[in-house]
Amino acid sequence: MIYSELKIFEEILKITKEENLLLLACNGCAEVCKVSDDKSISEIEEKLKTNGKKIKRIIKIDFMCNKNLIVRKLSRFINDFSDNFGILVFSCGIGVQCVSNVIEKPIYPATNTIYLGGFQGLWPGEERCAECGMCYLGITGGICPITFCTKQLINGPCGGTNNGKCEIDSEKDCGWALIYEKLKRIEKLEILKEYQEPRNYKLCEPTGKIRKKIFYDVDKNEEL
Ligand code: SF4
Ligand code: SF4
Repeated sequence: MIYSELKIFEEILKITKEENLLLLACNGCAEVCKVSDDKSISEIEEKLKTNGKKIKRIIKIDFMCNKNLIVRKLSRFINDFSDNFGILVFSCGIGVQCVSNVIEKPIYPATNTIYLGGFQGLWPGEERCAECGMCYLGITGGICPITFCTKQLINGPCGGTNNGKCEIDSEKDCGWALIYEKLKRIEKLEILKEYQEPRNYKLCEPTGKIRKKIFYDVDKNEEL
């Protein structure tokens, strides 16, 4: 099982740029972690509405890591997807990437996938989540900068990109070249102007138990 926690609401509000939102919830691991159960979703839905968002629809999918299921379910609602429209996903990082791979719309994670220690099961798809504890998929068009960029950069490319390939491994696509192209296709390049605070590597540490949420105030250099 992949474990995830809900992001704080202020962050969800900050990353979701569009007025109209579709809420997409996974009935698999995410529901077991209580990040996609009815109570969590309705709490976030109410707060989003209070902050001027329009929730067009809430859709549940049994296993969001199954792209066929996502396509089958979303194709019924394709007429809902207007221009000013984003999708807020309640699942682990793999599920968010799967949604982003099957639909060219702005996708935002409502959760952070965290590391509890041990091994992750094998996954046949191209999506990879390193359980970094602070999901960045909302600022990268749904492409993970931790697993697709060799240096795990979160504020854009290193400068060594060569013809779309990584300077460390010329056989490998540069993660940030992929992110740039994706953001361009979904007309969200302006997100790249937003500065991301330095990563808190404490979020990657295994604890062997489910942690309290940890947030870090970089100005005060302390956990919140
Ligand atoms: S940014 Fe990548 S590694 Fe981190 S939680 Fe999201 S998908 Fe997983
Ligand atoms: S070339 Fe691209 S993928 Fe490779 S380290 Fe630099 S930004 Fe990351």
